[in-house]
Amino acid sequence: MNKETLIRWDKKHIWHPFTQMKLWFEEEPTIFIEGRDCFLKDMDGKWYLDGVSSLWVNIHGHKRAEIDEAIKAQLDKLAHSTLLGACNEPSIVLAKKLSSLLCEKLPWGKPLTKIFYSDNGSTAVEIALKMAYQYWINIGIKGKDTFVSLKEGYHGDTIGAVSVGGVELFHEIYKPLLNKAIQAPAPYCYRCELKLNYPSCGLACLKEMEQIIKKNQEKIIAIIVEPLVQCAGGIIVWPQGYLKGLREICNKYEVLLIADEVATGFGRTGKMFACQHEEVTPDILCLSKGITNGYMPLAVTATNDKIFNAFLGELEERKTFYHGHSYTGNPLACAAAIANLEIFEKDKTLESLPPKIELLKEALSEIEKHPHVGDVRQKGMIVGIEIVKDKGTKEPFPWKEQTGWKVVKAARKYGVWLRPLGDIIVLMPPLIISEENLERLLHVIKNCIIEVTL
Ligand SMILES: *Cc1c(COP(=O)(O)O)cnc(C)c1O
Repeated sequence: MNKETLIRWDKKHIWHPFTQMKLWFEEEPTIFIEGRDCFLKDMDGKWYLDGVSSLWVNIHGHKRAEIDEAIKAQLDKLAHSTLLGACNEPSIVLAKKLSSLLCEKLPWGKPLTKIFYSDNGSTAVEIALKMAYQYWINIGIKGKDTFVSLKEGYHGDTIGAVSVGGVELFHEIYKPLLNKAIQAPAPYCYRCELKLNYPSCGLACLKEMEQIIKKNQEKIIAIIVEPLVQCAGGIIVWPQGYLKGLREICNKYEVLLIADEVATGFGRTGKMFACQHEEVTPDILCLSKGITNGYMPLAVTATNDKIFNAFLGELEERKTFYHGHSYTGNPLACAAAIANLEIFEKDKTLESLPPKIELLKEALSEIEKHPHVGDVRQKGMIVGIEIVKDKGTKEPFPWKEQTGWKVVKAARKYGVWLRPLGDIIVLMPPLIISEENLERLLHVIKNCIIEVTL
């Protein structure tokens, strides 16, 4: 099909996510037709370095033979059946594999032995919220109806997930529709709400969190957070000790800890799961994005036996978890996820990361010197570069100027594909990226920041 026709049909029929469609109509959109390693090819034959892993999902590169083969092999047997009252082979094998991995990597609390499947990050969060709420009811504790989350937090776009979201631009308008939630200050050191500096602050934001929990303990179901990096809120990297502190607060006041590792899971932070960095095991863990290397929609909500057992009972006790989706445990998606996990072992993906993480760190310390770079934040292979108008006062560029977008658009000319978060330039390349390509990515970004802001 020719490009002009496709673009015409796209503009006529597709409503793009997170997009002001009025502006979209004025654009010449890019249509990707092929992928290889950490590159994407458009219809004009131009190749782009995929600097954001096709929106944070790709880990081992595009067109990975092992995953292609796993899906094809499963396709020859069965594309879909249901988990409602039945089983399928890939979902069982994946649950076994994942729970072993979780127990091995997160051994500090009750092991995460139980896997509940769904098909995207938002549903993984919905499930976690409903599971946590019903857990207290099932064990006979009444009056818990409120979640605690963080400002600048992001957990997806369905109503339950938006209820615990804290990005004003995305979430404010839906307030009248939302469930009860209290927001604690984000540990966002560059723009600290409490106007303090780390480490002399002694993690004052954590103390604020403790006050909130203490005051509302009887109605609080759980704290839900993105451990270590609040990604969509602007790659907010937490100060050391905050996550560990959260776990201690949850233990002390007997509330559940839900870790949303939809973005941080599967190696992005340099370890398989972000919670490993502070030796924390959550009560409920949400995973998606990297789980199938971006091949198929799949998500997991994992929990421990204590929570699971609270749902056991006679039918008339009404302890059943009445939740499920049509595509729960889809065999093709699970087959892709199994192959994805096997590549971690075969390629020693995590072991290959330290030199790349170091390279990023060095290049960022250069980029940080730029007069319009206010802050650089990095955790493992996740990077945020915050562009500001005035470095001294931290004043941002006017929102309407879309400075972040200008940088990203400039990068496209040089064959680098990115997507910013406002004026924060995000780098989240596939973990497979070579050092050479990583250098190229950083070089282009540095030049584009100069080109746009000076
Ligand atoms: C992307 C994301 C989600 C939502 O996942 P979807 O698959 O887009 O619904 C939830 N939580 C976090 C931390 C995310 O980054």
